[in-house]
Amino acid sequence: MRDADRRTIIAGLGAGLAVAASTACAAPRGRKIGYAVVGLGRYAELIMSKFAECDQSRLVALVSGTPEKLIRFGEKYGIPASHRYSYADFDRIRDNPDVDVVYVILPNALHAEYTVRAAKAGKHVMCEKPMAVSVAECRTMIAACRAAGRKLMIGYRSRFEPYNQLAIDLAKKGFVGPTRIITADHGFNAQPNQWRLDRKLSGGGSLMDIGIYSLNATRYLTGEEPVEVSAIESTDRRDPRFATVEDRITFLLRFPSGIEATCVSSYSSNHNMYRVTGTQGWIELEPATAYEGQAMRIRRDGRTEARSVPVPKGQHAGQLDHFAGCILHGTDPLVPGEEGLADMRVIEAIYRSAREGRRITLG
Ligand code: NDP
Repeated sequence: MRDADRRTIIAGLGAGLAVAASTACAAPRGRKIGYAVVGLGRYAELIMSKFAECDQSRLVALVSGTPEKLIRFGEKYGIPASHRYSYADFDRIRDNPDVDVVYVILPNALHAEYTVRAAKAGKHVMCEKPMAVSVAECRTMIAACRAAGRKLMIGYRSRFEPYNQLAIDLAKKGFVGPTRIITADHGFNAQPNQWRLDRKLSGGGSLMDIGIYSLNATRYLTGEEPVEVSAIESTDRRDPRFATVEDRITFLLRFPSGIEATCVSSYSSNHNMYRVTGTQGWIELEPATAYEGQAMRIRRDGRTEARSVPVPKGQHAGQLDHFAGCILHGTDPLVPGEEGLADMRVIEAIYRSAREGRRITLG
């Protein structure tokens, strides 16, 4: 490797880390921001365990429809009975000054309702992806938080993950030349009998749940919004898992600068990668958006090399502390409600393209 190349890569790494530092938390400044977690399912269980790594965030309240979970997690995390809520008495959270943020980790179709109720209770909101199940719902959520003067952030955790941050930085700088093509594949083999496979609760199939990572990555890697969408769906309707939602949906996005992205979304095969191909090589992450274990390879000047980046703080704690920092310092989140809305706009266009069998132009 030429020294000049090495220097550029090191500079790139440094820039990536600078991005990481700027999106992570500042040093603790006394008060920690208090979070109430709503919906104590599998992802909430992981999130609750991550407060131990946080500098500016703490878990202070629980909301659940399952009394046994309120007791179990309440005891595990030292949450007193006064700070445990059912869905029916959720609105009482307005009277709890320890709760600054409501973190909505419910099935997708419930995100809008609980975001609006949280904002009306005077709380800031962190909401899981997908933000909601329609563009209309996303707009309602943004409006409710704005009317209440509260912040809204979407749980796009990859933006707080150092390999993704470096990939964004290198792509923006044209490290492998100007980007021409992005390929992004995400999927897993969906287990039967869960809300994800019930359109009323999920709003859709693999695209809403996992394909959204492919879409979101193309947007953060280009910094552009797609102007054209084409998609094809492949679903075996004899498979009882796919009675109401799609399995695979493959989509092509065209961006204003001429970049094209080809993306896979699947509920019947495992994928977790993206590759940014420029005029002089490519940058690849596989896995790209997993909870941990990201691996990066870069091909440039005919040589392929693995890159490793220090990971000073996990992406989940980084995400929680970023939002806490925004509240403490009065700044805007890196991934506000408008980010969730932008994805949902494209998701609706992807579904429409697949349904109507034609290209959809986005204004
Ligand atoms: P789970 O099924 O594991 O948990 C959902 C929880 O929501 C349930 O345990 C239940 O908690 C509550 N709930 C309330 N009403 C219902 C209902 N009608 N049906 C089912 N559950 C209900 O789902 P996940 O934790 O995997 O997903 C929750 C959200 O988090 C989704 O929006 C998903 O997309 C997102 N997610 C994000 C990830 C990320 O990496 N950013 C990863 C995984 C999920 P209780 O018993 O306490 O009421």
